[in-house]
Amino acid sequence: MAFPHVLALPFPIQGNVNPLMQFSQLLAKHGCKITFVQTEFTHKRVNNPSGAGKDMLEGSQIKIVTLPDGLDPEDNRTDIFKLLSSMKSTMPARLQKLIEDINALEDVGNKISCIVVTVNMGWALEVAKKLGIKRALLFPASGTSMACILSIPKLIEDKIIDAEGLPIKKQEIQLSPNMPMIDPTEFPWHGQSKFIFDRIVQEVQPMNIAEWWLCNTAYDLEPGLFSISPKFLPIGPLMGSDDNNKISLWKEDTTCLDWLDQHPPKSVIYVSFGSMAVIGPNQFKELALGLDLLNKPFLWVVRKDNGVEENNAYPDEFRGSHGKIVGWAPQKKILSHPAIACFISHCGWNSTIEGVYNGVPFLCWPFFSDQLLDKSYICDVWKIGLELEKDENGLISRGEIRKKVEQLLGDDDIKARSLKMKEIAKTSIAEDGQSSKNLDKFINWAKY
Ligand code: UDP
Repeated sequence: MAFPHVLALPFPIQGNVNPLMQFSQLLAKHGCKITFVQTEFTHKRVNNPSGAGKDMLEGSQIKIVTLPDGLDPEDNRTDIFKLLSSMKSTMPARLQKLIEDINALEDVGNKISCIVVTVNMGWALEVAKKLGIKRALLFPASGTSMACILSIPKLIEDKIIDAEGLPIKKQEIQLSPNMPMIDPTEFPWHGQSKFIFDRIVQEVQPMNIAEWWLCNTAYDLEPGLFSISPKFLPIGPLMGSDDNNKISLWKEDTTCLDWLDQHPPKSVIYVSFGSMAVIGPNQFKELALGLDLLNKPFLWVVRKDNGVEENNAYPDEFRGSHGKIVGWAPQKKILSHPAIACFISHCGWNSTIEGVYNGVPFLCWPFFSDQLLDKSYICDVWKIGLELEKDENGLISRGEIRKKVEQLLGDDDIKARSLKMKEIAKTSIAEDGQSSKNLDKFINWAKY
C-alpha cells in the first residue's frame, strides 16, 4: 500500500493535543489515513470555531474516535495524576479492542500500522507492542527536555542529582557536545515534588518502547541534541495547516484579531501563560499595573478557568485603557499578526516554537517544568528574549515589567536575531528542509 494508517493518541491537555493534531494534519496532507483518539470528555469539550467536536475532520483523512478516560463526568480533570492513573488502569484494554475492531474491518493495506502518542501514554505504546504495531512518541516539549528526562538514570549514577531529582552540587552539565550547558536547577522536574519526579522516572522506561522520538523542533534550533540518540527525529516546527480543524479546549475570542488590525506594526505587547500556569493575586496585580505603566497597547489572555480571573481581582487603580483582555486567544494567528511587538510568555514549548516561527521577541516568565529550560534557549542560546526577574518578595514587579519591555523593544540585535531564527524555522519545514525530509522518512517507515 502507498500510505500508512496511523492511530494518534494525545494525553488530553491542550499542549499535547495541539502538536499531535498538527502532526496528524501534516500526515493526512501527505496521504496518510489517521484515526485520532480523544477521550470522551475532551471531545465533548472541544470548542472548534464551527462548534462542538466533530467526528470526521472536513476535507481530510482524519477520523476522530473516542474512548472513556475512566473518570466520572464530574471528576476534576485538572488533577493530572488522577486522570493519568485512571487512564492507565482503564484504557489499555479499550484501546486494544478499538485497534482490533478497526483492523478487522479494514483491508490488509489499510490496517493501523503505527501508533503515535504524546507523553504519559507509555501504556498505549505497550498495547501497540503487544499487537505488533509500530510505535512513535511525539514529545510536546523541547528535544532537550526529553533528553534530560531520558538521562535521569545516568544523572543519578554520575551523582549530578540525587534519587529525588535534586542537584547534588552546584555545577552546570552538558548532555552532549555542542549542547548548551544546563544548570541542574533548570531540569524539567526541578522545584516539583518527589511525587512528580517519581512519575517522570516511571515514564522513562515506556518511552524506550517507542521506535522514534518525534520532536516539535528543528536540527538547527537544538543542534547537538541529535547526537544523543538516532531515535530523535525533528519534524517541526509544527504549525498546522488547517485552522478550522484544530482542537481548542477553550472558546477562542476572535474579536482580538479585528482589534489588532487597528494597531500599527510592532506596537502591541501580547501576554499569555498557556493553558495551565496560574498566577497568584499579588502577582496578577503587579502585572496589571505593569501593563498600565507601559502605556502601550497590550493583548492579555486571562483564562476564566482554574479560578484565574475569579481569584484575581483587577486592582482599583488599573486602567487597562490601552489594552484588550480575552479569555482565550487564537494564539497562532495573534503571533503571526504584524501588530505584535513582543510576547510576555510562560515559555511553554508550543508557545516558544510559535513565537520563534513568527520572529517575535520574548519576555520570559517561566513557571515550572520545561519552561525554565526553554527560557534558557530563548535568552542564552538563541538570544531572542530577556528574562523577567523576581524581586525579594518573589514577585515580578510592575517596574521590572516596564523596564524589561522597554529594553527589549529598544534592542535591535534581539530583533535581528528573532528574524534570523524565524528564517531557520521556516527553512526547516520548506519542501527541501530537514524536518520535511524527516517527515518523509517517518511516513515510509510507518507503512504496513
Ligand atoms: N494557546 C491558545 N490560546 C491562548 C493561549 C494558548 O491557542 O490564549 C495555545 C498556544 O498556541 C499553544 C498552547 O495553547 O499551542 C499552549 O501550549 P504551551 O506548550 O505553550 O503551554 P502549556 O499550555 O502546555 O503550558
